[in-house]
Amino acid sequence: MGSPMATTCLIDRYAAYLPVTPRTPRIALGEGGTPLVRAPRLEAETGVREVWLKVEGMNPTGSFKDRGMVLAVAKAMEEGAASVICASTGNTAASAAAYAARAGLECAVVLPAGHVALGKLAQAIVFGARVIAVRGSFDDALVVVKELAAGGEATLVNSINPYRIEGQKTAAFEICETLGDAPDALFIPVGNAGNITAYWKGFVEAARTGMATRGVRMFGFQAAGAAPIVHGRPVAEPRTIATAIRIGNPASWKSAVEARDASGGAIEAVTDEEILDAYRFLAGCEGVFCEPASAASVAGLRQRARRGALEGIERIVCVLTGNGLKDPDTAKSFSPSLTEVAPTAEDVRAAIRALS
Ligand SMILES: *Cc1c(COP(=O)(O)O)cnc(C)c1O
Repeated sequence: MGSPMATTCLIDRYAAYLPVTPRTPRIALGEGGTPLVRAPRLEAETGVREVWLKVEGMNPTGSFKDRGMVLAVAKAMEEGAASVICASTGNTAASAAAYAARAGLECAVVLPAGHVALGKLAQAIVFGARVIAVRGSFDDALVVVKELAAGGEATLVNSINPYRIEGQKTAAFEICETLGDAPDALFIPVGNAGNITAYWKGFVEAARTGMATRGVRMFGFQAAGAAPIVHGRPVAEPRTIATAIRIGNPASWKSAVEARDASGGAIEAVTDEEILDAYRFLAGCEGVFCEPASAASVAGLRQRARRGALEGIERIVCVLTGNGLKDPDTAKSFSPSLTEVAPTAEDVRAAIRALS
């Protein structure tokens, strides 16, 4: 099944590095090939020579989840599955629902009630998934879908599905290709810890296959109220405004710690206040609108810069995992009521001045 769109197919582009066969369906919605944007204001603030933003919100459903989902769904098709299922804080659900729709598979998504950003919920609904909210956390939802998948009811497409990690590692390849080599350090938000695992795998393979000549230090950031890896124990009731990383017991905990230790990196906590500061800085000073969880990478960079903990690091890539439009409520909370005036130049001019 070829893609009818004039877009590159991630599976085809990296087939040599992925567990695909000639029979793997080449489904595609335009995933991957996301922009790497230089961040001059962040460079000025942190004193780092080069800071780049990998804008994963430009993927078809607005998050990096599409890179892994396209492969997980293609492999499910290849293996004859009729339906897929996942637990999700929102973006996995949006992505699974889209690719399942594309592939003609049934899709069920299980979400933590009351803690999913509006845009993600809208996507899961309109892509036609069966959307179930559970009274519990993401971690509770993951336990349930694992049980259902183990019973053979559907293929699990959470990041414990190895194809998710395989697809997601392509972002590391793209960074090496664009920069001509691996960066000194990667800064990345950590939730269920699949993505930090995937980037690490990608950078290790990039070094092995000649795409890169150097290693990368991996710096992961959890929200302070949902920082199990930082504290070394699960968090029963994770709390943070960054709903995409509101996870208390990450599935890829062990491999995240391995990535941290093997790369000479760190996994640290950033507060919700630091996350929201970085979120507004990125939008207001760099022109890049990401979702709150994504800003954890940049919050971590700014925190380390303040502590003077960036020695020997001259080229950094921060991963911005998801699009800001996913979470309109957070954006709107900074200006809850709009100024309304009469439609005259005089009134509008006065209103603009009042806001300056
Ligand atoms: C899923 C997600 C994360 C966390 O990624 P993990 O692989 O679970 O660590 C971070 N940000 C956004 C926007 C996400 O959708």
